[in-house]
Amino acid sequence: MYFDPDLVNPPTHLIIGGERCAGVTLNDVHSPSRHALVRPVGWASDAQVDQAVQSARLAAPGWAALAPRERAGLLARFADLVDAHAEELARLESLVSARIYSEVIARDVKVVSGVLRYFGEFADKIDGAVTPTPRNSLSFTVHEPHGVVAAISPWNFPMILSSWKFAPALAAGNAVVLKPSELTPFSATRLAELALEAGLPAGVFNVIHGDGAVGDALVRHRGVDYVTFTGSSATGARIMAAAAETGLKQVSLELGGKGPQLVFDDAGDLDRLAAMIARGITYNSGQVCFAGSRLVVQRGIADRLTAKIAETMHGLQFGETWNTAANMPPIINERQIARIDSIVQASVAEGAKVVCGGERIAHDGASFFAPTMLSGMAPDSIAIREEIFGPVLAVQEFDSFDEGVALANHAEYGLTASVHTRDISQAFKAAQAIESGTVWINDWGRRTDFTAPFGGYKRSGLGKDMGRPGFEKYLKSKAIWLEIE
Ligand code: NAD
Repeated sequence: MYFDPDLVNPPTHLIIGGERCAGVTLNDVHSPSRHALVRPVGWASDAQVDQAVQSARLAAPGWAALAPRERAGLLARFADLVDAHAEELARLESLVSARIYSEVIARDVKVVSGVLRYFGEFADKIDGAVTPTPRNSLSFTVHEPHGVVAAISPWNFPMILSSWKFAPALAAGNAVVLKPSELTPFSATRLAELALEAGLPAGVFNVIHGDGAVGDALVRHRGVDYVTFTGSSATGARIMAAAAETGLKQVSLELGGKGPQLVFDDAGDLDRLAAMIARGITYNSGQVCFAGSRLVVQRGIADRLTAKIAETMHGLQFGETWNTAANMPPIINERQIARIDSIVQASVAEGAKVVCGGERIAHDGASFFAPTMLSGMAPDSIAIREEIFGPVLAVQEFDSFDEGVALANHAEYGLTASVHTRDISQAFKAAQAIESGTVWINDWGRRTDFTAPFGGYKRSGLGKDMGRPGFEKYLKSKAIWLEIE
């Protein structure tokens, strides 16, 4: 066991204006690893949502006026504190999410401290431009923070996906109100405490807890200038509508995906490929927006490759997130596992063949879903259409390049895609033809790298997180004109 879940004492309060305060309505937070109550968390009332936004409004001008180098220095101290509290943060994260403790230590915590340093360093590196106007005038462009940024994040990578938002927003000089998922609230509270300890002024980084109704109240608040969201496409659409109805705020949306693994006959080492494709759909038990959830494979190697993937899937080990042997964590809750199960059953009813898995696994009180491969579906099958958010790989076969690319392009989603071939021209042609915000060639998955923008086409999103665009979106530009007499 990496840690004893009964010895973890998670913080349940909100952080508003630098103060710890209790939320109003109590709601239970469960551990998916053993279907047990961890503790109730008070959700923010409407008055507390208002208070958090007002605190952010009050703090924003001072934070924006701070010398950018000082902001960078404070964010670097914040990052150092995150690293110093890695084990504590990882326990809070693993207790209530599906993130395996060793992975949180090896990756998630380092991503959070890394993005704080990466975006902190942008603070004093965004120049304005002097534009080519006639000689009797001077026009220069300056960049200014929006003011108050509302950040709303999901449960699947709670710390990482929150940090992708608060780190660049803060570095650009905005104040932030973060609402993490109601299923995984604890790490966000602790991060806001560490920000205060690092010296960020009170009110610059607030955290409130609650469900979609609390998120909705935050989005609709007239004191919010910009909304940044990661979650499902359905919620993203609701947020966009709410932001339009209440002051036409800018929004950026990181939404769902249904990523293809497009594999050509000449893809090379099938053992390596099978391991990568199995990982692409079983990592975090498939609860990953960029999961490679569709295998689009050229017919010549389809049988051999799927047999090897099934073999790899059989070797995976279910377990609690604090279990040292586990590499398949639980599904986040009963609702989600019921949804996965119902999509698998519906596609079987439509004629899909279960190559492996296909069922729920009860294990030590938690709910797991067996790594699953389905084949023989029509292109409009539910298993192809819907984001399942579980370890379910839908297999489709093709003969020609055009047919493969057509299958890889999803009708609605376009977050990420992989292309596997040893022919560089074919790889590049496919990457150009695939409608997706990210295309990996002979690879799958985000590296611990902050430089490349991440965000979807189509219903997968609007705008980018990470990289330069992931910082610049937290600034607006102003053209200042000077008449030369
Ligand atoms: P969700 O949309 O149910 O919830 C996400 C967050 O939005 C939560 O904090 C929730 O409380 C809040 N929320 C719900 N309704 C709201 C409303 N009307 N107004 C404001 N806030 C509201 O998503 P989830 O189940 O937490 O996460 C899974 C989804 O997130 C999947 O679809 C997945 O693909 C997507 N996701 C996308 C990315 C990406 O980078 N594109 C990353 C991770 C997850």
